[in-house]
Amino acid sequence: MLTAPLRRPRPSRLQEPLKLEGKLAKGMAALGLDTVGDLLEHLPRDQREARTIAALRVGEQATVAVEVRSIAGRSVHRRGMRGIVEASVFDETGSMIATFFNQPWLVKRYPGGTRLVLHGSIDARARFRVAHHAVGSEVGSSAAVHAVAHYPAGEGVSSTQILTLVRGVRERLSDIVEPLATGVRVAESLPDRAAALGAMHFSDSAHEREAARRRLAFEELLLAQLALLLRRRRHGECSRAPALADPPTLSSRWLERGLPFQLTGDQRGAIETIAKELGRSSPMQRLLMGEVGSGKTVVALYAMLRAVEHGAQAALMAPTETLAEQHFATLQRLMGDEPVTMALLTGSTTTARREAALGRLKTGELSMVVGTHALIEPDVSFRGLAVAIIDEQHRFGVRQREALDAKGSPHMLHMTATPIPRTLALTRYGDLDRSVLRELPRGRQAIETRIVSGEREREEAYQRLREQLQAGRQAYVVCPLVEAPPEDVQDRVYGDSATLGGSSSVEASASSTVDGSQARAATAEFERLRRGALAGWRLALLHGQMRPREKQEAMAAFAKGEAQVLVATTVIEVGVDVPNATIMLVENAERFGISQLHQLRGRVGRGEHRSTCLLIGPPGSARLKALARHSDGFRLAEIDLWLRKEGELIGSRQSGMGRFKVASLPEDAALLERARAWAQEILDHDPQLSGPAHALLGNALELAYGEQAKRPIAA
Ligand code: ADP
Ligand code: MG
Repeated sequence: MLTAPLRRPRPSRLQEPLKLEGKLAKGMAALGLDTVGDLLEHLPRDQREARTIAALRVGEQATVAVEVRSIAGRSVHRRGMRGIVEASVFDETGSMIATFFNQPWLVKRYPGGTRLVLHGSIDARARFRVAHHAVGSEVGSSAAVHAVAHYPAGEGVSSTQILTLVRGVRERLSDIVEPLATGVRVAESLPDRAAALGAMHFSDSAHEREAARRRLAFEELLLAQLALLLRRRRHGECSRAPALADPPTLSSRWLERGLPFQLTGDQRGAIETIAKELGRSSPMQRLLMGEVGSGKTVVALYAMLRAVEHGAQAALMAPTETLAEQHFATLQRLMGDEPVTMALLTGSTTTARREAALGRLKTGELSMVVGTHALIEPDVSFRGLAVAIIDEQHRFGVRQREALDAKGSPHMLHMTATPIPRTLALTRYGDLDRSVLRELPRGRQAIETRIVSGEREREEAYQRLREQLQAGRQAYVVCPLVEAPPEDVQDRVYGDSATLGGSSSVEASASSTVDGSQARAATAEFERLRRGALAGWRLALLHGQMRPREKQEAMAAFAKGEAQVLVATTVIEVGVDVPNATIMLVENAERFGISQLHQLRGRVGRGEHRSTCLLIGPPGSARLKALARHSDGFRLAEIDLWLRKEGELIGSRQSGMGRFKVASLPEDAALLERARAWAQEILDHDPQLSGPAHALLGNALELAYGEQAKRPIAA
């Protein structure tokens, strides 16, 4: 023990600038690597990504060691593109085409016979899109992949140069501080931070490197959980919502007499939990998840009525006008003849009506308001907003939700029909409590889902559709965008890690370009069907570019059964409720995401009749097959997560705790659960992270999430 070197970290020494010159200095600065500490934290790529060609999976980031057989460039006629280089490459398990973008000089640099290490992903057409590349040594061995320790590199700096620099500062690892309390580290059998960083850079043992990776991932997840839990505590402590604790009057009367059906067990459970939380003065922050048709609106209305019977106000915000109108109609229907004042506020509300509504909201004369973003405009103010519901909450940004919160610090219920797997719920919504409606209202039937490919099957599909119409039922025909908009193509070409051959229509559906081409597609399809396969039946058209009045008319015609077929874009994804509709045909289904298709499919199977969903698309599509196999939205969400990887499910519009440097979800799900448990435990004992065991952890948290992350009371 006496001879063991005494480690006394001096973290300030990590701030010393790297002494570099010329191109290298510039390149490193561009990578954000300025100090010794930056360099030590710049980790090589995940070794678990090393693969053979045979083991590559579509859409998954991986690294392969290959040899070039032949290479050639080709020009591309698209602005901003400097051509594509295609190399035929192989290892001992197979061969493939690797594609390099905008680097025409590689044709000369990587002639046949060159050994390369490539990082990227393979697309559905079996082309490997290269994001990073370096000259390698032995082909096909994972040792080769590691020997080049491919660091994320950049202009003027190669991965090899970075490795040399890291070697040069190796002894400075002793200045790395340990933010984890010894108790946590021992209980989780994690190496200390300096050892972990050392192993990531220099160890030849895959086992050691994985232990090191786990340790760094754990720390990252722990910090994220601490930040989320602290945010939630802060919100609970410093905001005050009206405590709605008086005995129920209107709400119980409504529950007992007003409903035309029995609540499901899950609905009852959610209502009970919500009632309890509304009774407290710390604002409820709850996420209500439930499949399409699981009956979330009833739960929401209950919460709103609790506000109303206390003389306070309630608001429901939905992402689209169609949906807001639907909700407004549903609430009016569900309220029956209870005397509750209610208004609708959207972008197309006339100025006169809007002004009247705003006035009545301010005086408190209006108890309930349903609307779109129009609700969070600065001139909207409430006399006493006690409950706010946000439907399809993932379609709103953080700032929009905050804007609603600012209208009176209400109890908040966020609703979503997209089942969110636990890993995502913990990372992205770790500051919300959750209620789930799993049980579908009685009488709902599973929807038969089939993939339809080729002309003959398409004809059969139309035949089935006509049979349903003949039997008095109704049908949906859904069209996605026909052509990907140019931005989308560019993203796929230039982006590296976040690309996956499939569609990004979930995110893209917000953009007007997409909606424009969707509208065109739906209009063309409407004409085609009216003249062809569905001639003689009554068709209606619905897309986002129609005027609000036209939209309303189309929806109303379909709801009343006047129109038998609704040809539509994804506008119908949410909110449309026509129990008599029993068949849905989705064109180009492979262009939709799994959860979007699942939501779409939820438009049928809402009544007593057996329903069918026909997905027109390639028979081999993993996503379509998943839909045909599974009806459980949670199961589908898990599959989606595996296919798309964390972060893309909800899209980039959701800011915040999304991506991690080292941790990778859902693979690290178990680690995440442990980090969550530790975060809770640590905050229970030391809510300010001020004790000696946690001071360094507190510093790390500030460093990662900003100074405000630790502050107990928001300024
Ligand atoms: P979600 O918003 O979760 O998709 P909704 O709240 O719109 O679902 O409910 C879908 C339909 O089911 C509505 O017509 C609603 O009136 C009906 N519904 C809700 N709860 C029940 C229930 N417990 N039993 C029967 N029907 C129900
Ligand atoms: Mg709904």
